[in-house]
Amino acid sequence: MSFVTRFAPSPTGYLHLGHAFSALTAFDAAQAAGGRLLLRIEDLDRGRCRPEYEAAIFEDLTWLGIKWTEPVRRQSEHMHEYQVALNTLIARGLAYRCFRTRKEVAEAIASAPHGAAEEAFRGEALPSAEEATRLSRGEAFAWRLSLTRARAALGDAFETLNFEDETGAVRAEPERLGDVVLARKDFPASYHLASVLDDALQGVTHVIRGEDLREAAHLHVLLQALLNLQTPRYRHHRLILGDDGKRLAKRDAASTVRSLRQAGATPADVRAML
Ligand code: GLU
Repeated sequence: MSFVTRFAPSPTGYLHLGHAFSALTAFDAAQAAGGRLLLRIEDLDRGRCRPEYEAAIFEDLTWLGIKWTEPVRRQSEHMHEYQVALNTLIARGLAYRCFRTRKEVAEAIASAPHGAAEEAFRGEALPSAEEATRLSRGEAFAWRLSLTRARAALGDAFETLNFEDETGAVRAEPERLGDVVLARKDFPASYHLASVLDDALQGVTHVIRGEDLREAAHLHVLLQALLNLQTPRYRHHRLILGDDGKRLAKRDAASTVRSLRQAGATPADVRAML
């Protein structure tokens, strides 16, 4: 079986040790399997992404000895594909407009009946007259996936959604994430929608990424079923923590690949640190 994996950073800062670990883990797995590593630039959030960070990604990965198969896929160049997928979900009645602010979503979650998945928002479309009024006022909204409608659309298949990861076969529980945002007015695709589509369009057979995204797989499997896409295998790796025991963030300047290199570290040193 062919083995295609990917490293999918967002160019919103310099790569840090956590990214290096992810990229090296994926690269090593591809090498061991005689497969390929693809590189995808997740630059949907135009306000936070910068070309110099993208250039730095290529430079830092090359310095680490990581090779990927061209072409690099840049999400900002594929907005149309995300839009088509979103429209399909909307046309099938699987998505609804949500006009709630962040604060209102948080309040709705807090007052949800006991037992509802923590932090998982569930909502529904507004009555059409109210929706029309809000739209005519130009109010901002997000398209959310309706879990209720998705369950109805898939029928029994919803109950048997599953994926494989390093722990074995996992029964998918998309309820854990609730009605996720698929797109915003100023932001035509969410991470979830774009990443699921890209993995399929790029022929990714193995998704290798940090365990902070373990929960996301439960939703991604549902999106794959709704959009008729293959489910890849998943492998979630441990996260690299800073000296304070917290996971690294792009603002931790001292642990960027760049600053380690400037301080005289070699790629082998970086591997050893991980
Ligand atoms: N762009 C995501 C990140 O930088 C990676 C998402 C993924 O691997 O699915 O965290």
